[in-house]
Amino acid sequence: MTDTTAAAATGHRLPADLPERIQHYIDGEFVDSLDGETFDVLDPVTNETYVQAAAGQSADVDAAVAAARRAFTDGPWPHLLPRERSRVLHRIADLVESRDQRLAELESFDSGLPITQALGQARRAAENFRFFADLIVAQSDDTFKVPGRQINYVNRKPIGVAGLITPWNTPFMLESWKLGPALATGNTVVLKPAEFTPLSASLWAGIFEEAGLPQGVFNLVNGFGEQAGDALVKHPDVPLISFTGESRTGQLIFANAAPHLKGLSMELGGKSPAVVFADADLEAAINATIFGVFSLNGERCTAGSRILVQREIYDEFVERYAAQAQRVRVGYPHQESTEVGALVHPEHYDKVMSYVELGKTEGRLVAGGGRPEGFETGNFVAPTVFADVPPEARVFQEEIFGPVVTITPFDTDGEALALANNTAYGLAAYIWTSDLKRAHNFSQAVEAGMVWLNSNNVRDLRTPFGGVKASGLGHEGGYRSIDFYTDQQAVHINLGEVHNPVFGQ
Ligand code: NAD
Repeated sequence: MTDTTAAAATGHRLPADLPERIQHYIDGEFVDSLDGETFDVLDPVTNETYVQAAAGQSADVDAAVAAARRAFTDGPWPHLLPRERSRVLHRIADLVESRDQRLAELESFDSGLPITQALGQARRAAENFRFFADLIVAQSDDTFKVPGRQINYVNRKPIGVAGLITPWNTPFMLESWKLGPALATGNTVVLKPAEFTPLSASLWAGIFEEAGLPQGVFNLVNGFGEQAGDALVKHPDVPLISFTGESRTGQLIFANAAPHLKGLSMELGGKSPAVVFADADLEAAINATIFGVFSLNGERCTAGSRILVQREIYDEFVERYAAQAQRVRVGYPHQESTEVGALVHPEHYDKVMSYVELGKTEGRLVAGGGRPEGFETGNFVAPTVFADVPPEARVFQEEIFGPVVTITPFDTDGEALALANNTAYGLAAYIWTSDLKRAHNFSQAVEAGMVWLNSNNVRDLRTPFGGVKASGLGHEGGYRSIDFYTDQQAVHINLGEVHNPVFGQ
């Protein structure tokens, strides 16, 4: 358990009433792994183990899938009226909202996210449930008339047990993004949260019980990706996998799911460009591109981590950007004033730091470049900015997933587009210009699943969410999530003469 003296010495604060251990939740019960295996969960500020979590193996996944399967075939959930399911989802949203402070406290502690941003994510989790609660009652399906001959309609059905595999950045919110539509559509689920951050996921069980979700509809198996996650992906009774995580893991899951021909939704990595033209509102562009890469500790799939700046304003941009990056407040995750907290885990810290060192050989360091002053332990990284970074640099090409950004100059629109598209990824793009034609033409040509024009990353839950190229497969968001979690069966009814070419007369 945590050495509280060490924590106190760092000015760090531990939440009250931390659980003594983190268990699975299967068929309405908190349980340990069948073989008793556990793994260490670390506090990102001290890197000390603060709790043990159950390490799920395939036997635990089998039990969770069996419970979810029973709840699907024998339970009421898939057959409820949309309004009835919607009421449960609204109650879930109410409960999440009413516990937002506690959720944020635990999430911030477990993941190292700044408390104010964790609070925003908790509220967004509630909003995800509310959104799908509303959408499911407004859901309409197609009916087609062939005059005098046929009426054909779509019979939309939940699919079965959905396997939900989630990453450690904004864990609770990203879990809600999958749980909301999966449950709204009448499926039952097995959630496998990320092993770095299992704390907040356990809270779902109590919230769902209180909201009246029937037993067995929600199941949670903690553990490592290669064990619990892999068993879920390969389980024959799990026809759907919704995965958010690294592109490399996505490729592996794609291959492992292939023999079962599962439905897959993949939300993967990113290296998104933020393109700033000389005619942009520079103040707004600087504020947005600072927030775009340093919020959520830079551990953000849609981070604008490659800034491309038109030559005329390049020097001024770099100077102002570097100065502002140096003013971004690194601090303990629980402090209200903190803008960048601690990275999630020492392994991730080492990875980000290795890119910081690499960047010093590939570009010109203009801010950060190591540990921030006053933080001698824990996973703290000073907001780091590299200018003059060429497109072949690894720090330009590879997802770092930390508070590290590259800046690269360009001259023409064509050059900006070539640079923007010059990575394996294609998740988001941010364009800053006051020229309307350029804004639209550039947006439409850029290889990105989502584009924000003169805007930070502000989501509209009705729009498609997802990436192209190595950033993903399929889109969720709005009715697309409903489509992913349902089968659309076409039912054809003959109204006229039987159309019957007669064989064998
Ligand atoms: P990760 O791929 O290491 O892990 C994600 C989840 O997959 C974890 O729960 C992990 O245990 C599990 N997993 C790992 N190996 C597995 C396997 N072989 N079979 C089944 N499950 C397995 O990703 P991460 O490091 O947790 O998250 C960071 C990544 O997620 C970044 O690349 C980021 O861009 C991406 N991300 C994408 C989006 C998006 O919407 N596109 C959103 C958030 C994060």
